[in-house]
Amino acid sequence: MIRTEHLSKSFGELVVLRDVSTDIQKGEVVSIIGPSGTGKSTLLRCLNLLEMPSGGSIYVNNIDLLAKTTNIPKTRQKMGMVFQSFNLYAHLSVLENLTLGPVKLLGKSKADAEDKALELLKLVGLLEKADSFPDELSGGQKQRVAIARCLAMEPEVMLFDEPTSALDPTMTSEVLAVIRRLAKEGMTMVIVTHEMEIARNISNRVFYMDEGIIYEEGTPEQIFENPQKEKTKAFINRVRRFNYHITSKDYDLYAMNAEIETFCEKHLLPQKVCDNVLLLVEEILGLQVEFSDITFSLAYSEKDGRLGFDFESAGEPANPLEEGVREDDIGIMLIKSRCESYQYKYENGKNILSIKVK
Ligand code: ADP
Ligand code: MG
Repeated sequence: MIRTEHLSKSFGELVVLRDVSTDIQKGEVVSIIGPSGTGKSTLLRCLNLLEMPSGGSIYVNNIDLLAKTTNIPKTRQKMGMVFQSFNLYAHLSVLENLTLGPVKLLGKSKADAEDKALELLKLVGLLEKADSFPDELSGGQKQRVAIARCLAMEPEVMLFDEPTSALDPTMTSEVLAVIRRLAKEGMTMVIVTHEMEIARNISNRVFYMDEGIIYEEGTPEQIFENPQKEKTKAFINRVRRFNYHITSKDYDLYAMNAEIETFCEKHLLPQKVCDNVLLLVEEILGLQVEFSDITFSLAYSEKDGRLGFDFESAGEPANPLEEGVREDDIGIMLIKSRCESYQYKYENGKNILSIKVK
């Protein structure tokens, strides 16, 4: 459906896209991930010619977008684009936002456009907001209206540029639910995202962008569980893992907890899991005697869909979860009740506790 060949884009001296060649089939959902500034947005913008490529070719349904004879506005209509910042018309009602394009650009009658608009508002769960104005809506609702508005133009492909990055976790979930539904209905989508939930569970292919190219691509499992190239590995480890190092008893508990919560939110883990981790970390820290060198790392595993964490502390061998050593074992019982499983080992002068969180 979309094919690029040796696509390049520079802004003056700055080479953003060096050589991007890819093929996206009808019905595919592709996520694009990568560090910021690596040209993810530029690639999307080139795909629908919001940015003119510097070189290479783009074909949409075998139509050469850069050929002089191509009707660009018409071809662009086949690609809906959803931005981070909704871009709704503030002075128009939700319904009017959805009917304006179809009436003006597709030549639909007002009645037809309204029928379709109401159907789409139902799809995104906002039928009751048809007569509201954008500033009466939450961010998540605005973004769902923006998606419905896009769909009203009957696109063949939807391009999303960080559709949830301006939203808090609840609103993120409601927008993801809509995107997931579109995926189920077979919509072809290309989604630039930092939301690992999309890349992992909604898309069937993931592009990791770096150095002006699609540096590595594969199924979500390949990219998240078994990336092949160094930069991909480093990036994936950064987003998948969260490390915290404690060097004194006076560590900042609140800052640490806030970071753990952010990690959980980014991975859209249920509140219960997040609460369990916070409690586990605090309780295990409570069992420590030596605070000179403690590291714990959290990681979400694609394989079993669970959050795991390793807790390493330097010192003499001492299993923190061994019962009967201290006066009371309530802390230990509490810890165990929040673990799906746990394992202890001593290695290279470190006590290592590996936990799967319930
Ligand atoms: P990403 O979406 O991966 O964060 P972008 O595609 O937005 O990256 O940007 C890639 C690089 O291109 C950045 O260094 C950015 O500053 C630059 N860039 C993007 N758009 C323009 C523009 N219109 N003019 C000049 N530089 C731009
Ligand atoms: Mg961007």
